[in-house]
Amino acid sequence: MEKPLTQHIVPSRKPLSLKEYEAVGGYASVRKILQELTPTEVQNLVKDSNLRGRGGAGFNTGLKWSFVPMGPDAPATKYLVANADEMEPGTFKDRVLLEGNPHQLIEGMIVAAYAIQANISYVFLRWAYKLAAKEITRAIAEAYEAGYLGKNIQGSGYNLEMHLHTGVGRYMCGEETALLNALEGKRANPRAKPPFPQVSGLYGKPTIVNNVETLCCLPHIINNGAEWFKGLSRSADAGTKLFGVSGRVKTPGCWELPMGTTIREILEDYAGGMQEGYLFRGLLPGGASTDFLVEEHLDLPMDYGSIQAAGSRMGTGTMIILDDQTCPVGFVHNLQHFFAQESCGFCTPCRDGLPWVERLLLAIDKGEGRPEDMLALEFHTKYLGPGNTFCALAPGAMEPLQSALKYFREDFEQHIVEHHCPWSTVWQPSI
Ligand code: NAD
Repeated sequence: MEKPLTQHIVPSRKPLSLKEYEAVGGYASVRKILQELTPTEVQNLVKDSNLRGRGGAGFNTGLKWSFVPMGPDAPATKYLVANADEMEPGTFKDRVLLEGNPHQLIEGMIVAAYAIQANISYVFLRWAYKLAAKEITRAIAEAYEAGYLGKNIQGSGYNLEMHLHTGVGRYMCGEETALLNALEGKRANPRAKPPFPQVSGLYGKPTIVNNVETLCCLPHIINNGAEWFKGLSRSADAGTKLFGVSGRVKTPGCWELPMGTTIREILEDYAGGMQEGYLFRGLLPGGASTDFLVEEHLDLPMDYGSIQAAGSRMGTGTMIILDDQTCPVGFVHNLQHFFAQESCGFCTPCRDGLPWVERLLLAIDKGEGRPEDMLALEFHTKYLGPGNTFCALAPGAMEPLQSALKYFREDFEQHIVEHHCPWSTVWQPSI
């Protein structure tokens, strides 16, 4: 991430060994913080850089760190966790970083851990990311061997342990408090917030959970400064961002681009535009738990503020494209099947509401929907919306549904009136 890259990042590229990584400046930020900066100075530098969390929510990273109790009265044990449980549908950006350059993640984790004075850290990795597990295991061992991890790092007196923990393939574990429960060996239910993990997290101790992409920005911010990082962007939100595109485009992929690159540029210049014979109908800008955007939004910059102002969220920045030959009802039904299956079942609206939504959508898609089902779906988008559930899973699930009802309403109504799917591609759950 030293400068905005424009080439296609190839996920299967062989990752750098420690020696190769050091030869291109790797771990320089670790030496710099340990020799020149106090933890508070690191926090302030990152706060000034306006690095916002790349997991989807966009919370200011340095500000989040600043909530961790510091000083002589603070708990002696603190934890740092890298959230590598990337399970948002359509999202594969962290995988590129994990498989492509695991030392960059470890370096970023050392910076974050030092900033909050944590001495124990974990990589919480998605179960399915087998190659990433292998590469991270190797990289952690190399980092211990070279004295970047363990006791008295680079002779500084600072100690940091790092462990790899693989999940069991539940979307819920990406939610930071459910993740912490899972790490403690408990059922992965979310916890009430507040208290936020920054104050009471893993085993009740102050804990920072940061996304992989967020952590990978840190070495470069330390080495080059806050102004440099802000200058990489084309918008008010700082830095570069990994943007991805999936769907019926010519070259689906993942690219590091300046924050604020427009949707149209990403779709046309990088993803190559729509495949022959397919027209663009809409897109989910950042994984499945975001609202649809349509043609009128294509010239929007991809940044947190611009996408929010258009009624959606940038989320993970990995777009899913809806084309004109895919049934929007079937598309949304497929997503709701995923969300219903992944509900932890802890709170009633999510546990009971999501399967209900799924059944309504399946009935409509099969041509068995009733006019009143539209009202029932709309009711659910409110009933499962923000403030009515324990965590963001169900409200996130309602985002593609509520916007599909807005932008593709005639498609839903056509299914109901004509008693069949005009695309005749009824998606059936496999279980
Ligand atoms: P959130 O906005 O509640 O929190 C984001 C971060 O900011 C958390 O670390 C939280 O502790 C901190 N925070 C928020 N408000 C705070 C406050 N008042 N005081 C102190 N700290 C505060 O969002 P969330 O529920 O953690 O995450 C939802 C996001 O996750 C969605 O945007 C969704 O797109 C994304 N998501 C990503 C994936 C993935 O695979 N990357 C999967 C599922 C969801």
